[in-house]
Amino acid sequence: MSIKQQIEQLHATLPEDVTLVAVSKFHPAEAIIEAYEAGQRIFGESRPQEMAAKAATLPEDIEWHMIGHLQTNKVKMIAPFVKLIHSVDSPRLLAEINRWGEKCGRTIDFLFEIHLAKDESKSGWDLEEFSNFIESDTLASLKWVRPRGLMTIGTLTDDIEQNKQEFKTLRQMFDSLKGRFSESFDTVSMGMTSDYEEAIECGSTMVRIGSMIFGERDYSK
Ligand SMILES: *Cc1c(COP(=O)(O)O)cnc(C)c1O
Repeated sequence: MSIKQQIEQLHATLPEDVTLVAVSKFHPAEAIIEAYEAGQRIFGESRPQEMAAKAATLPEDIEWHMIGHLQTNKVKMIAPFVKLIHSVDSPRLLAEINRWGEKCGRTIDFLFEIHLAKDESKSGWDLEEFSNFIESDTLASLKWVRPRGLMTIGTLTDDIEQNKQEFKTLRQMFDSLKGRFSESFDTVSMGMTSDYEEAIECGSTMVRIGSMIFGERDYSK
């Protein structure tokens, strides 16, 4: 299927309350344009430099989501325009995003990336670290960032039951936190090409789909 057909099919089949982030990392601007022409407006990237370069040349109504691990020294590249940062994994990173939000005069929306996977990947808050942080006063002092919800990356495994457990846990965490934040705490970002249907079953509100739309990534680029 072409990029256009994949986008059209996803738009037709995803539940109305689930937002599609088309993950365009490592794919060229032309691929993004094809998805854009099929009606897609939200694109996910994992490298700040690549995202900034694409944003500079592509249509202004594209919403750029940062989904990959973000180094503090690269926040400045995306702070002026990024729509949502999914990958906030430390107090230090959040403080830096807040600092750049203030400099740019815009409040930056973000998700807490929660580490639930049973694998080597170490990205995301572990549960204790996260609960200590939200019990502290730190978040209230950061005026230029707005928590929009939670994100997780499922364990890289063929065991879909394992992933479903993780997705259910993330959704429960979200439900138990909702009351503490404002109405704008509304996003559960989980599910990729291999597991988005299960993620939706478990309560995802935002799926991040790359290879299904754009094909294999060429990491040599
Ligand atoms: C690359 C990436 C995706 C998309 O993965 P696919 O398997 O290509 O759909 C989703 N989320 C994150 C955090 C990613 O880095």
